[in-house]
Amino acid sequence: MSAPDETTSSAFDDVFSANAEYVANFSLNGLEPIARRGLALVTCMDSRIEPLDMLGMKPGDARILRNAGARVTDDTLRTLVLAVYLLGVDRVLVLPHTRCKMASVDNDDVVHDIIEEQYGVDTRSLEFHTDNNQLGALRHDLERIRHHPLLPKGLPVTGAIYDVDTGRVDPTGL
Ligand SMILES: [Zn+2]
Repeated sequence: MSAPDETTSSAFDDVFSANAEYVANFSLNGLEPIARRGLALVTCMDSRIEPLDMLGMKPGDARILRNAGARVTDDTLRTLVLAVYLLGVDRVLVLPHTRCKMASVDNDDVVHDIIEEQYGVDTRSLEFHTDNNQLGALRHDLERIRHHPLLPKGLPVTGAIYDVDTGRVDPTGL
């Protein structure tokens, strides 16, 4: 592997130097990797989301799985299987959010076109799992978890929507 160039390394100066302060005040030493409150949260990568705080959780309480759109992908399922059997997870909350870009367009083609037009990159080899029927996509994703052959029958699984303007987590009853 070649060494990163100077631009690459300086792009991270702020985060690495901020860490020094974090280390000075570090208080999570000795925390177990088991999710103390048994929650696996599947949510979006959106930077407006504070997954622990919004649910009254602290580090060590929950497993957080994040991706674009809070979609239940094969990788999400793989991670949930590990989380349930090895990491103390005994309930799963899937939590997409309001004003999510991934739920603002009809289908992946729109996103592929935008990226191609603006950057000249053809991303059609990827599936982005965009869907503007957010509740329909959530229902589908919850079913994927509920019917996964390797996950325990009766594992509590539910969905809610996080409102990025109010902080409210709205259960969908799905
Ligand atoms: Zn989002």
